[in-house]
Amino acid sequence: MNTYRGRFAPSPSGPLHFGSLIAALGSWLDARHHKGKWFVRIEDIDPPREIAGAADNILATLENFGLIWDGQVTYQSENQHHYQQVLLQLFDEQEVYRCTCTRKQIQSSNGIYTNFCRDKQHSSKTDHSLRLKIHQPVTSFEDCYHGHYNTALHSASEDFIVKRKDGFYAYMLAVVVDDIEQQITHVIRGADLLETTSQQLYLFKLLKYSLPIFGHLPVATNNQGLKLSKQNYAPSIADAPVNETLWLALNFLKQSPPIELRKENTSLLLDWATQHWQPNKFKGKQQFLHQYV
Ligand SMILES: [Zn+2]
Repeated sequence: MNTYRGRFAPSPSGPLHFGSLIAALGSWLDARHHKGKWFVRIEDIDPPREIAGAADNILATLENFGLIWDGQVTYQSENQHHYQQVLLQLFDEQEVYRCTCTRKQIQSSNGIYTNFCRDKQHSSKTDHSLRLKIHQPVTSFEDCYHGHYNTALHSASEDFIVKRKDGFYAYMLAVVVDDIEQQITHVIRGADLLETTSQQLYLFKLLKYSLPIFGHLPVATNNQGLKLSKQNYAPSIADAPVNETLWLALNFLKQSPPIELRKENTSLLLDWATQHWQPNKFKGKQQFLHQYV
C-alpha cells in the first residue's frame, strides 16, 4: 500500500502567483510521481493578513491548472480547538511559558530572543505571547533534495512563539499539528522555509510523531533578488495562460519540458511532468535555491 501523503498549504492573503505555483506544482508532482495523495490546506489563522475571496480564488486557480487535490480541502480556522488542546497540554507539561517581551526589546538584542522569560513565571493577566522551551535544539536535518542542512544555532535554539500576543495561534504550531493530524509523510515546499524546519522538527519530536520527509524547492525571486510574494506585489497567475505558465514553471524547476508541449493541453503536459519528475536536476548548493524570473 502506498502511504505517501503530501500537501500544499497556502495562506489566503492574495491570489496565487508564479512563486506559489512553484510550491504547488513541485509538491503535486512529487506526490503524483510517487503515486501518493496530495492535500490542500488553507492556512487561514491570520485574519489581519487575509483578503476576502482569496481562498476560493486560489482553489479555482489550482483546479484550472490541473493540480487536483485528494479529499476535502481543510481550513486551519476550523481546527483551532485542536491547537488550543495541544497548547494546554504543553503548558501543563511546562513546555510552554508566557513571554511579555516586546518587539522593540528583542530588536535591541540584535533581533534574537534570548529565552529571557523562560523562568519568569509571568501572570496570565499581563499581555503575553506563549513560547515553547527548546531544550535540545535540532541543529540539522536531511533534506531529501539537498542532503544535510545545518540550521543556524540561534534560530534552532530560540524558544519560538506558539501563540501570539494578539491571541492568534502561530503558524509554527498550527502547521505541525495539522501535518500530524493529516498524517503527512512528505513536506515539499519553498526553500524560504528551510530555516524554520528545525523548529518544526523539534515540535514533531515533542509531540511524539514520526518525522515527515522534508524537501525544499527553489524559490522564485524578482530582479531585486526578493522572493516573489504578495507583499512585493507578485502578479497573479489567475488569468495567465495555463499551459504556457505551467511549462515555464517546469522549466524553472529545471525539468527540461519538451518545447512541443509548450502549446499542448494541460493534462498532456502534467502527465509528461509526472513521469519525468527529476528533483536531482535542481538539487544542489544553497546558492541555487533562489532564482530570478
Ligand atoms: Zn519574554
